[in-house]
Amino acid sequence: MVFIITFFILHWYSSAFIQSFFQHRYMAHKMFTMSKFWEKFFYLLTVLFQGSSFLHPKSYAILHHEHHTHSDTEHDPHSPHVFKDIFSLMWNTKRIYTEIQQGSFKNETAFAKRLMAWPTVDNIAHGFGLRFLFAISYVAFYIKFAPNYWWFLLLPIHFLMGPIHGAFINWCGHKYGYKNFDNGDQSKNTFFWDLFFMGECFQNNHHRYPCRANFAVKWYEFDILYPIIISLSKLRIIRLVHGT
Ligand SMILES: [Zn+2]
Ligand SMILES: [Zn+2]
Repeated sequence: MVFIITFFILHWYSSAFIQSFFQHRYMAHKMFTMSKFWEKFFYLLTVLFQGSSFLHPKSYAILHHEHHTHSDTEHDPHSPHVFKDIFSLMWNTKRIYTEIQQGSFKNETAFAKRLMAWPTVDNIAHGFGLRFLFAISYVAFYIKFAPNYWWFLLLPIHFLMGPIHGAFINWCGHKYGYKNFDNGDQSKNTFFWDLFFMGECFQNNHHRYPCRANFAVKWYEFDILYPIIISLSKLRIIRLVHGT
C-alpha cells in the first residue's frame, strides 16, 4: 500500500510542478528565461511527468493566452461561469486544445510565433504509442503493488493527471474562494496556501499580476512553487524576468 500511495503522490506533484513551472509560468507567461539546454531538459521532464496525459507546451500556452485575454467571457476556453459542469468545461478545453494542436486555431499570432516547439518530441509524446506505454506502466505498477482491486479506481487519475489538474484549477480558481483584487472577471484565490496545485489556485492574484513569479501577494498567503523558482534562480538554471 505504501508504494501505491508514494507513487500517487509523486505522480500528482511532479505533474503539478511541471504544468505550473514549465507550461504555465515559463511557456505561457515567460516569467523567467532559461538556456536552450534547460528548456529541452524541462520539456523532456514534461513528457516524463505528465506521461499518458502529456500536454503539448506550445498549445497549452496558446490556450492559456486565450483564457487570460477572454477571462470568464463566452470566449474563455474554460470558464466555470460559461459551462454548466466541470466535464463540459474539460470537453471544450480539449476541443480548442485539439484545434490548436492541429494548427487551425490562432497559431500564427505574434504570441504563438514566439513560443518554442520541439516537433520530434511532440509527435512521439503526443502519439498513441508512448501514451499507451505510460498507461500500461501505471497499470503494471498497480498490479504489482496494490493490496486489492479497489486501489485500481485511482488509475483514471493517473491516465488524465494533467487535464484533471487543469480542470480543477480553472473550475475552482474562478468559482470558489476570496478576492484580493477586482480584475473585472470572476477569478478567485481558492486557498490561502495552495498545497495541492503548486500555487495555481491563486487565480485572482495571478490575473491581477500575470507576469509575477510569486502568486502569493498577502503576508498570509504562500505559493509553494515560488521558493523552488528562487532556488532554481540562485542555481542559475533560470533567470527571473519580472522580479518578484
Ligand atoms: Zn484564470
Ligand atoms: Zn496564467
